[in-house]
Amino acid sequence: MTQQQVSTTPEDGPAPVLAYVALGANLGDARQTVLWAISQFDGLADVELVARSHLYRTEPVDASGPDFINAVVAVMTRLSAHALLHQLQHLEQLAGRQRPYRHAPRTLDLDLLTFGEGRIDSPRLSVPHPRMGERAFVLVPLAEIAPDLVGRAPLARVQGQKISRIQTF
Ligand code: ADP
Ligand code: MG
Repeated sequence: MTQQQVSTTPEDGPAPVLAYVALGANLGDARQTVLWAISQFDGLADVELVARSHLYRTEPVDASGPDFINAVVAVMTRLSAHALLHQLQHLEQLAGRQRPYRHAPRTLDLDLLTFGEGRIDSPRLSVPHPRMGERAFVLVPLAEIAPDLVGRAPLARVQGQKISRIQTF
């Protein structure tokens, strides 16, 4: 081993990454489902919940059905981005997510917004999420827990989209 190489043990694993996840629901008891999903993050192996926004009520954008309940969480994880997506999709399944057609009302939608500084463009995963900058239901809760990640200009652009903060966590 050269001096530059850092000694690692099998337990070290990959360095943890800070990732942001958007939650949305507008079918069934959306508020309860979003609260349930937030509570599940700490139970996932190699995932730790480090911040969560308030819940927000929003009108559907590009989607149909009743108003949405939205939130954003920050997690520290040693999972890869694809493995984290897999866990998110598993939680969607547990919440009874169905995909009868594009933009259908959903019991739970979990979108990976950012994964550290990572840029990913694979068939199953695009990060940063390509549409996150167009949506008040992402930008407003994200700005609450990560103000440095959200510029004033994008926030101004989504000002016309109705969003209201639900007072209780
Ligand atoms: P949407 O969230 O766009 O309304 P879905 O939740 O049904 O629709 O997701 C459709 C597909 O989007 C998923 O199968 C997933 O592989 C893909 N996808 C690509 N990038 C992401 C991302 N950053 N977060 C979540 N899903 C993503
Ligand atoms: Mg989704």
